[in-house]
Amino acid sequence: MKSNQIKELKKRLLEIAHLASISRLLNWDQEINLPAKGADYRAASISELSAILHTKLLNLDTDNLLTKLKKEVDSQKIRGKEAIIINETWRTFDRERKLPEDFVRELAEVSSKAQTVWIEARKKNDFSMFLPWLTKIVKLKRKETEYVGYTVSPYDALLDQYEPGMTTAEVSKTLDNLKVFLVPFLKQIRDSKQKINSKALNGKFPIDKQVEFNKKILAKIGFDFDAGRLDASVHPFADGLHPHDVRITSRYALNDIFYSVSSTIHEAGHALYEQGLPVEHFGTPLAESVSLGIHESQSRFWENMIGKSLSFWKYFYPSLRKDFPESFTKLSTDDFYKAINKVEPSLIRTEADEVTYNLHIILRFEIEKGMIEGTINLKDLPKIWNSKMKEYFGIEVPTDSLGVLQDVHWSGGGIGYFPTYTLGNLYSAQFYQAMKKDIPDLPKKVAEGNFIVIREWLRKKIHVSGKTYTAESLVKKITGENLDSKYFTEYLTEKYTKIYNL
Ligand code: MG
Repeated sequence: MKSNQIKELKKRLLEIAHLASISRLLNWDQEINLPAKGADYRAASISELSAILHTKLLNLDTDNLLTKLKKEVDSQKIRGKEAIIINETWRTFDRERKLPEDFVRELAEVSSKAQTVWIEARKKNDFSMFLPWLTKIVKLKRKETEYVGYTVSPYDALLDQYEPGMTTAEVSKTLDNLKVFLVPFLKQIRDSKQKINSKALNGKFPIDKQVEFNKKILAKIGFDFDAGRLDASVHPFADGLHPHDVRITSRYALNDIFYSVSSTIHEAGHALYEQGLPVEHFGTPLAESVSLGIHESQSRFWENMIGKSLSFWKYFYPSLRKDFPESFTKLSTDDFYKAINKVEPSLIRTEADEVTYNLHIILRFEIEKGMIEGTINLKDLPKIWNSKMKEYFGIEVPTDSLGVLQDVHWSGGGIGYFPTYTLGNLYSAQFYQAMKKDIPDLPKKVAEGNFIVIREWLRKKIHVSGKTYTAESLVKKITGENLDSKYFTEYLTEKYTKIYNL
């Protein structure tokens, strides 16, 4: 009886997974291939499919199937992998059913319109144009927190969607600790006499040759081209349709090859995670990533800890030189390494270096927490933003387009998402520490081009277990400790003390 019910649940989940996969494919196609006139019709197709998915998700409990199974799990009659499938499915279902259909539709509509207004407001550098829409979004998101429920901060209810189990209080504490380190550390770097010339990276790099170089890196670090592909888009992304079909994109600039290389390695980190999920569990939470933070730990790890390390370029620089002799023959490996790791306070989050990146996130987290908890007045946002930029980065914000209006997240309703970027950085540093203990001579292996040991370590420790562990328990299992920002600050200190002679 029980096994029949589980079989039925898996069948329903598999249907959802296939439809979700089709929806992802439509999205991917929209970014890569869609003719301009097809945009409206594509949006309609995707929204039609979203409605079907919503219904299918609620229908998981038809005949009380899921409710019954959840009771069996709660009374410990079902344990192990099946209990994980049921608990995690319940979590998604429970959130979905708490949101009234009218509310979901209103939020989708308002976010869609708000995004259009935001694009225009950013172009015109006009925050007042965006303000009424942001006000609507925040009001709806606060309503969402009431529907979903929370015990301490309403922000908990939003964060939980992206980083299950993590609380606002924990994030606040972790990010505060990090800020106490980062602000003076950045000042120390700015005051250093060591100046780095990143212009040395500029040159002329034909796009087709860049693509070939990026593919070379992907193949070497273990991206499976028989189970994925690389394309180009304005904003790079990774999308896993199935472990055997993982699509990534990069972006290209003719004068700067590192622009594409860093994006490609970042997205490859996401892709390796998706390709490493266990195929046999496709459709169930056992073949899904733990959280956005853990996903980002994979991309950040490859992008920064590996892709911006000296060992990595000891291996790849000769090949880069061979492909682009005019630009790099005269630049030493060491100077190249320094140039790609230049630290500089800047206005735009997505272009920030490893040291300043998290200050951008801390600023956004503090503001969005205030928006949801109702402690800040939305019309003061530009003023608050600019004063925090001054305080944390030491720079003036010339326009709102380069300040409070720069990110897409708030206009799309993605409040609670930002902290997962920094959590990803912190997880990655802590995992890296554990990896170095497990793999002797790791930098030497990297310098020899042996990246597969790394991919296999990540696969075994993280990828194959899907959602078996929460982020918290996974960190504990792998590193023996709870999440601690000291691993990240130690990593930064060691690396940048050498680069900047601190
Ligand atoms: Mg990412």
